[in-house]
Parts: sequence; structure tokens; C-alpha cells
Amino acid sequence: MIFDDPINDFLSTAKMPIPHKFRNFFSLVPNPNNKSNAKAVCTFCSSKNGGVQAAALIPECYTTNKANLCRNHLANCIHFKNAYTEEEVEEILSQPVPEDKRKLKESSM
Ligand SMILES: [Zn+2]
Repeated sequence: MIFDDPINDFLSTAKMPIPHKFRNFFSLVPNPNNKSNAKAVCTFCSSKNGGVQAAALIPECYTTNKANLCRNHLANCIHFKNAYTEEEVEEILSQPVPEDKRKLKESSM
């Protein structure tokens, strides 16, 4: 189950004008080692590992809060894949991320 929590709402409005498409699947946890990028803890991994705070300590369960990295996590996340049908997984992972566009622009120059 995914709940909105006020801390994440605060982080997303303060730091990210447009939350990326995969934001709903992650809980943001402040990262003491990297203040500019919060840890994005996978909610599916969290529910299998005793909650967000526990999962935030397991490298396999979180990534940096960047759309492409979050998508990479979901692409490899067995818990995410178990939560959705194959079609839904494909549809979610096929959503474009800003980093894709940047790459396209660079290669077309
Ligand atoms: Zn995961």
C-alpha cells in the first residue's frame, strides 16, 4: 500500500517542481551523504523489508531520486514486478524520463 506522507510532500514541493513519473513508487528519505539528492526508497522493497527506514539501509532497496535511476530500479525489482501484471509493468517502464530526452537531444546535435 502506498500512503502520501507529509514529509515526502514537503520534499517534493520544495525541491522538485515536477515529480517524475516513478515518484509514486518511491518514498524519499534524506540522504546524509548527498544532500542534493534524496534517497528514493522503493515502496515495494520497503514492504518486503520491514518498512522504509529499514529498506533505506539496504542498497538493493533504494536508488537516487532521479527518474532514470528509479526506472532502472523498477526494471530490476522483483517485488514491483510481483505487484503488477506483465502488461502493467511494461507500460510503467515504457514511460519516458527527462534523461531520455536529454540523451536524444545530445545525439541529434
Ligand atoms: Zn524495489
